[in-house]
Amino acid sequence: MSTPPTPPAQPGFETLAIHAGQEPDPLTGAVVPPIYQVSTFKQDGVGGLRGGYEYARSGNPTRAALETCLAALEAPHLADAVGLAFASGLAAEDTLIRALCRPGDHVVLPHDAYGGTYRLFTKVAGPWGLHVNPVNVTDIDLLRKAIVPGRTRLVWVETPSNPLLSIADITAVAEVTHEAGALLVVDNTFASPYLQQPIILGADIVVHSTTKYAGGHSDVVGGALIVADPEIGATLAFHQNAQGSIAGPFDSWLTLRGLKTLGVRMDRHSANARTVAEFLVQHPAVSQVYWPGLPDHPGHAIAARQMRDFGGMVSFRVSAGEQEAVDICGRTQVFTLGESLGGVESLIEHPARMTHASVAGSPLEVPSDLIRLSVGIESIEDLIADLAVALDG
Ligand SMILES: *Cc1c(COP(=O)(O)O)cnc(C)c1O
Repeated sequence: MSTPPTPPAQPGFETLAIHAGQEPDPLTGAVVPPIYQVSTFKQDGVGGLRGGYEYARSGNPTRAALETCLAALEAPHLADAVGLAFASGLAAEDTLIRALCRPGDHVVLPHDAYGGTYRLFTKVAGPWGLHVNPVNVTDIDLLRKAIVPGRTRLVWVETPSNPLLSIADITAVAEVTHEAGALLVVDNTFASPYLQQPIILGADIVVHSTTKYAGGHSDVVGGALIVADPEIGATLAFHQNAQGSIAGPFDSWLTLRGLKTLGVRMDRHSANARTVAEFLVQHPAVSQVYWPGLPDHPGHAIAARQMRDFGGMVSFRVSAGEQEAVDICGRTQVFTLGESLGGVESLIEHPARMTHASVAGSPLEVPSDLIRLSVGIESIEDLIADLAVALDG
């Protein structure tokens, strides 16, 4: 596999998003990496590879462009950081588990982890032999007690978390994780590298569902791993090829296209979410608002330190209870009722019955009167008017 080296000078985030890994096509000058919809590459004599490519599971130029760009965005300071693109966020996670863990290993998972992550660890990796311990990773003392030096292989963090937007202190978590000889994995899906760069804060590996903000247009499913240590990166790249959990060329191209506007989108998502959160805080039907940009959010100070802005996800509880929460989800017109998040369009959902239905009765169960918003980048006046009508019934 050949990934072009990252240039040594450090251009700004948006410049990297638009150019890293995306030199004009050497053959035609095309300014955007073409979709190399191809499975195999002609060899000039046995072993004579023209561009370093032989078979597209092992490496494809469109995927390589995305992988280089992802590594540059998450770890612009590390020229040998490794980016890997996968068929989905969960394919990336599954590859990570099988590459870095062995039966008998212990893993600390956030008690409010993404439901699919929790299911993968408990229902797939559990029977395979992994011991999974859900912990409130925002509490460093609890976390320290949960880590078993010599046995804990991974500490997993999602910040902001889903759907309650809790904030973990990445630097502090990295310290206790590394003291015990474990690796820190941060799921950076909610923040995106524009708002937060966990590797710079001490994480070893960043996971993404690129389906969300990275792709940003609700038109592609994908995942990524970005790895600080090139040796661990090589192990993960070996597994990506050996397990075949790769992103296809068209999916890679769509994700790369999404990344180009990540910065401007996240700025607008964050600004719109601020207005929505402030509207909800003063609304009489709302009992609690979860958005890390609010000064009374328990993780506000940490978020302000480790994030550029507070992101586009807002959750809130309604005083009238579960049925009213469900009814509100059915009344919005601009906010579309649906799962997923991170696209340009606003989405509304009821976690207890939708995204988090599978964790009912587990430590990850969410309040039944909770509504989650993925605040999009439509005109803010329309978003507020839509919520106002839906909340007033
Ligand atoms: C969606 C999501 C995932 C899983 O990613 P897929 O692309 O759906 O497989 C993992 N983590 C978080 C935080 C997510 O939102």
